[in-house]
Amino acid sequence: MLGRALPGPEQGVIRDAITEGVIRRLLDKGDPRLQNFQLCNGCGSCTPYCPAQINDLEANGDRGYLARKVTAALQAGRRPEIDLSDCVQCYSCETVCPRSVSIGGIINAVYETEHVQPVFRRMLLDRGCLPPHAFLPLYTGRGRIRKFVAKAIQYPCPVDDRAVDEVRRLLLHPVEASAFSRPGHPAPKRPLTRPDQVFHLNSCCAFNYPGADLSQREILAALGIRYETSRLQTCCGGAPHYMGGAGFADRLLLTARNLSVIRDALEPDDGIAITGICPTCSDSYTAALELLSVSTNRAVVNEALGRIGREVGNPGTFVVANILDLYPLYLDELRRLVETRLSGLRVGVHVSCHYRKMTGTLAVPPGLQDLAAVTGARVVRSGMEHHCCGGVKNLFDRHQNGHTKGLPRLNRLVHKGFMQHRLDVMVVDCPGCELVYDHMGVPVLHITELLALATGADPRETVCIQGHLTSLSPALGRIGIL
Ligand code: SF4
Ligand code: SF4
Repeated sequence: MLGRALPGPEQGVIRDAITEGVIRRLLDKGDPRLQNFQLCNGCGSCTPYCPAQINDLEANGDRGYLARKVTAALQAGRRPEIDLSDCVQCYSCETVCPRSVSIGGIINAVYETEHVQPVFRRMLLDRGCLPPHAFLPLYTGRGRIRKFVAKAIQYPCPVDDRAVDEVRRLLLHPVEASAFSRPGHPAPKRPLTRPDQVFHLNSCCAFNYPGADLSQREILAALGIRYETSRLQTCCGGAPHYMGGAGFADRLLLTARNLSVIRDALEPDDGIAITGICPTCSDSYTAALELLSVSTNRAVVNEALGRIGREVGNPGTFVVANILDLYPLYLDELRRLVETRLSGLRVGVHVSCHYRKMTGTLAVPPGLQDLAAVTGARVVRSGMEHHCCGGVKNLFDRHQNGHTKGLPRLNRLVHKGFMQHRLDVMVVDCPGCELVYDHMGVPVLHITELLALATGADPRETVCIQGHLTSLSPALGRIGIL
């Protein structure tokens, strides 16, 4: 038998058997992402919001098609017959579903089982984060290797060796996702109030936009908010999770371990606020705090953390202070801090899918517009506020598959919108969206970078505009910032 290839039909039978085994295993073990798929009644609310158009409404006019295709297959114990890699993991479907069914979560669970990305997992085990070289293909694909080298020298991986060792010991003894259950009625979230101090997260994607991170620190200091960071903090698992390199349980364990680090870094307090420049991190912490509110979940997590001498306590101690919730509490102060009004700059705003997933609403929150308006820039409303940028997963998939030329459908839509509205710059809340825009040739600033420019920060020293792939010089030069 050795060396003789199986005929095509037999390969297909074996492939189907393996895949159906995967689905059965996910169902039998009770993976939390699949737990409530039976609640789907095919109402179709989710379908029009899927930016990947996994269902082409115009082709069959069936609003419930996307969900039925996925959930009906699960009912029958079969793999959904869609190209899982089309899904950009935006979770708009989950956000909009009146029954909290997560089509994106189901796709993520199946994708994770079929396409483990050893390369991202290896990076987590070796470095405790997505290190600079994780992003190298995105720079070589655009012929920007010098920008990559300059950043890699100046902003190396921020994680301490002791933390990497703990991550390795944690992830090398995997916990099944089925060990966790979702809370039936999540505790109501405490409204965010002005914190005295915050823990500022190092985000993996900050490598691409060190200016967003430096700007955030300057703004926190200018607002009189004390902040702590720690080199013992690692990746929350969010970005690798959506790209198939960290499972559901891995992400929870990584975030829970970080909660223990954060607790150690700050004085014991009743309201530890966690901030950072990345909504995927915010979403990881929000999801973890919700899961940890169930005592049985906490027990499983603490058993795993116990192996590395850590423990996570009362999740009610922490509050997630995403910048779109935190900074709007200080609009008057920010207005007073503005030294250079960015009048004449036409900006569009784009709110990340993962911020909306975290907040559970697809409505465009006012925070980003209000913050952009504080700088004096002219905020131009456009359909792009509602669009998915195209997703970091899609960007990495294309580069891994060697499709570096041309823009995919979603990117083309966004690019067209930018040109039609004659915008100078897009303003985003997410370093992942920033990477996608920057990569498709759209000048883009993280909201922290825009605020820092208006409050007098040096465009090169602090905002690091020279590290962007798409030049900001024409837009900023025209308004006299450069
Ligand atoms: S997943 Fe939710 S929104 Fe989509 S069809 Fe089912 S019930 Fe409706
Ligand atoms: S996660 Fe986003 S891309 Fe994936 S199925 Fe849901 S809406 Fe579509």
